[in-house]
Amino acid sequence: MNAAFQALCARLQAAGVPDARFDAAQLYRFVTGRDPRLDKGPTEAEAARLDVLAERRAQREPLQYLLGEWDFLDFTLKVGPGVLCPRADSEVVCETAVELLREVQNPVVLDLCAGTGCLGLGIARAYPQAQVTCVEKSDAAWRYLTANTTGTAVQTMQADVFRLFRALTPDSVDLIISNPPYLTAEEMAARMPETAHEPAMALDGGTDGLDFYRLLCARYGTALRPGGWLVLEIGCAQASDVLALGRQYGWQNGACRKDYGGNDRVIVLQKPQKSG
Ligand code: GLN
Repeated sequence: MNAAFQALCARLQAAGVPDARFDAAQLYRFVTGRDPRLDKGPTEAEAARLDVLAERRAQREPLQYLLGEWDFLDFTLKVGPGVLCPRADSEVVCETAVELLREVQNPVVLDLCAGTGCLGLGIARAYPQAQVTCVEKSDAAWRYLTANTTGTAVQTMQADVFRLFRALTPDSVDLIISNPPYLTAEEMAARMPETAHEPAMALDGGTDGLDFYRLLCARYGTALRPGGWLVLEIGCAQASDVLALGRQYGWQNGACRKDYGGNDRVIVLQKPQKSG
């Protein structure tokens, strides 16, 4: 343990950073390439770089943005200012879709409001033969999405989901996955400092947080083939509202699944099979 590392921990702690010690260790390792517990101390150049990052973290910029990449499931994504950080909460959303697609040959999948592309990329890694398209509107997020999907089979499309549905071929998609913006106006106003650094466009779900669920339930059934699935990340208090929207718009077999923190996190809705 060296004095510089101890000072770094204290600085982040004083700034109210949750898990200050973990973040300090991550930043130290990122700058020096060495383990702070075994290291004698940073060089002058390292100390200067560390100081810049410590100040940004003390200003509560997300650790993910400072490191420039973050793990999701079994892979690593490029992240930075302008895109929503991939969260462990979302892993179960991807895993739910992967389970649903187990019996489907060459599935066609859309990831709407894709951000870094974490959900679509996770599905493509599970099913290399899948045809996955990640859709994102934001120019800033788009740069991370293209960087993350380069060299993979995942396609990208820059589009606004409030218009895209008109252009989709009916009955053509097996599964639509989305982690749409879902914070309420009240939650937007009370965001953690870290979340306040993330793009509002990725978080703001309208006054009651449900704008995107209304859109997805009302407009995206047509593109799915009969029996196809809509797999949605939700805020932990939104399960009953989103299930009710699903029923209102004629979806079947609505179900909710929890994340590994024990919070309601995923809603699955199924498009009715063709009758008769
Ligand atoms: N899970 C995020 C948060 O709680 C919200 C993500 C979203 O709106 N899609 O900050």
